[in-house]
Amino acid sequence: MADKCTENYGADVFSEREIKRFLPKTVASKLLATMRQGKPLDPSIADAVASGMKDWAVGCGATHFTHWFQPLTGGTAERHDAFVEPTGPAMAVSRFSGKNLIGGETDASSFPSGGLRSTFEARGYTAWDPTSPAFLKRHENGATLCIPTAFCSFTGDALDMKTPLLRSIQAVSRATERLMKKFGQPKAHVEITLGAEQEYFLVDRRFYMKRPDLLQTGRTVFGAAPQKHQQLDDHYFGAIKPRILKFMTEVEERLWRLGIPAKTRHNEVAPAQFELAPMFESLNLAVDHNMMIMEVLKQTAERHGLVCLLHEKPFEGINGSGKHCNWSISYGGRNLLTPGDNPRENAIFITLLLAIIRAIEMHADILRMTTAGAGNDHRLGANEAPPAVISVFLGDELNAVLDAIERDVKGRVGAGRAPMKLGVDSLPPLPKDTTDRNRTSPFAFTGNKFEFRTPGSSQNCAQSQMVLNTIVAESIDALCDKLDAAKGGFNEKLQKLLRYEVRAHKRVIFSGDGYSDEWRKEAAKRGLPDLPDTPSALAPLKDSRNIGLFSKYGVLSETEMHSRWEIGIGDWRRRIRIEAGVALEIARSMIRPVVADEFSRLATAIGQARKDRLKVGVRGLTALSLKLGAGLDDLHLKCDRLERALSRDAPSAQISAMNDLRKTVDRLEQLVDDGKWPLPKYREMLFVY
Ligand code: ADP
Ligand code: MG
Repeated sequence: MADKCTENYGADVFSEREIKRFLPKTVASKLLATMRQGKPLDPSIADAVASGMKDWAVGCGATHFTHWFQPLTGGTAERHDAFVEPTGPAMAVSRFSGKNLIGGETDASSFPSGGLRSTFEARGYTAWDPTSPAFLKRHENGATLCIPTAFCSFTGDALDMKTPLLRSIQAVSRATERLMKKFGQPKAHVEITLGAEQEYFLVDRRFYMKRPDLLQTGRTVFGAAPQKHQQLDDHYFGAIKPRILKFMTEVEERLWRLGIPAKTRHNEVAPAQFELAPMFESLNLAVDHNMMIMEVLKQTAERHGLVCLLHEKPFEGINGSGKHCNWSISYGGRNLLTPGDNPRENAIFITLLLAIIRAIEMHADILRMTTAGAGNDHRLGANEAPPAVISVFLGDELNAVLDAIERDVKGRVGAGRAPMKLGVDSLPPLPKDTTDRNRTSPFAFTGNKFEFRTPGSSQNCAQSQMVLNTIVAESIDALCDKLDAAKGGFNEKLQKLLRYEVRAHKRVIFSGDGYSDEWRKEAAKRGLPDLPDTPSALAPLKDSRNIGLFSKYGVLSETEMHSRWEIGIGDWRRRIRIEAGVALEIARSMIRPVVADEFSRLATAIGQARKDRLKVGVRGLTALSLKLGAGLDDLHLKCDRLERALSRDAPSAQISAMNDLRKTVDRLEQLVDDGKWPLPKYREMLFVY
């Protein structure tokens, strides 16, 4: 039997194999070199590349091509052009030129630019990113050739997520090369790696269609928690139901065709919540692949009568969804965050580790910024996701190592472990295999990589990775500068430097329970920034220190940072407004009529019962009608309050009025006849699929 995993793996990618098949030999080798080294494409081969790429795509059933990019709205964007070109009356050929491949010009007036582009200069430009291979998006009637591109304005400002990401990869690669040179390492290729674990919910489409809130906002603005939800932890890693497995299998088949290394699948903590994790890949490619994963999840769900919810918090009181970003740096194919086999490698490991700790300690605010958003606001700090305070978890073993460095202790660390010598005499030996786990930390070292757990499930990981790369680049450079400036032998200088860095930045290290209230207090005492909501989390984009840093590394200019602030705050305001509007509409046009009906039915029944001088039942009916009547009055008042908040453009008033209204509606849900409640309930949506 055919091997289902490998049979069609990468079949929809213009891969090395296809490049060699469809391009002349010299062109193929030039293109492959470009792809590997991330260099700009030699324009003289563009026509040949385009022609071969088109032949491959057309042979696979493609009729159109598109420049595929990642605008600042989130999600991906595409505009299709057909290959067809008429050559005479009723005659045509398929054509795709080098010009079509390398760059495109598109009307960008409806993409947000945050003030970067005035409407009269509405053109946007897309440019091929050859480091991410072209691929095919299939549909029932054919396919579209997708060319991953960067997207910028006429003035060269980045209007997308990819451009700054690529700039940041360059920045951290340069800094890493510099560091490795200091350690006498031969020049080698730096690769930043990302493995993004994607969480999501699935609900039956029939329920979804009856929930205007899910349809319009991606989350439920009403809904009482069911009696049983996740208390028993019986969903996490449980047996996967056949219908879900069928869905997952199709998702994986599609992803494998796209060369996306989907590796693990499992039930998550909340009912109806799942996770898909690919093998890690080169960062830029991994980001593109995560965007494709989200799209494939959504589209495949539809084919199975399901809806995939990528919102960070679709159900109140139930765990939300995140996107854990596992990040590392490799040099010449060796993961630099793996404690090494020899003293030199260990010294490199510790130095890099401290550079990262320093980066997080000094720039936690701007890293937190990358996870801002209306959806993630519900999730962070809600006892299920990391708090909004960014701290670093290292584990006992590494904590002991840093402690020894700080106190200048010599000898073994980590009882019972095989000690490893660092290149610097007075550095303690380093324990291998540090596998401690702390699920409550936003930024955790997990043995050979850092896992950033704050990003939300719907967010493009390019944003957080771009910032992480840049702050780490700055930190590595700062350590290198200090080594350059210091006097004495290398080992001695390094030893001194590391000791200083531990002291200066250790306040960001935290090993305890990140979900606890004590930690918030402790973090405040340590002076770590606590940015609990979108407006406060976006503010660091306007901080001159951050602006200086990002322009120094050429990752984001001041105007680009400002535009991101504007887009972020605008998006947040609009989302809150839509949610508040939807809540008001549902409360008034769906909930209120049902409650009013039920109330008047009861009132009539009570009147009749009294008239008939019934001895029983009147008390029960009266008690219920009192509760319903009070609820109805409450509903009326709270709807009016929400309406007033909506008429003033005040998001925080809208949020509080919406939360308040929710309490009333959720109480009514438990009073009104189950058969008459107009919205599918949590216990249905979360358990019936
Ligand atoms: P866990 O499930 O405990 O979080 P896993 O070992 O399953 O840990 O890894 C989770 C993710 O981390 C996977 O996507 C994996 O590919 C990724 N990962 C592993 N090593 C690296 C690395 N060197 N760089 C980036 N990501 C990595
Ligand atoms: Mg993980």
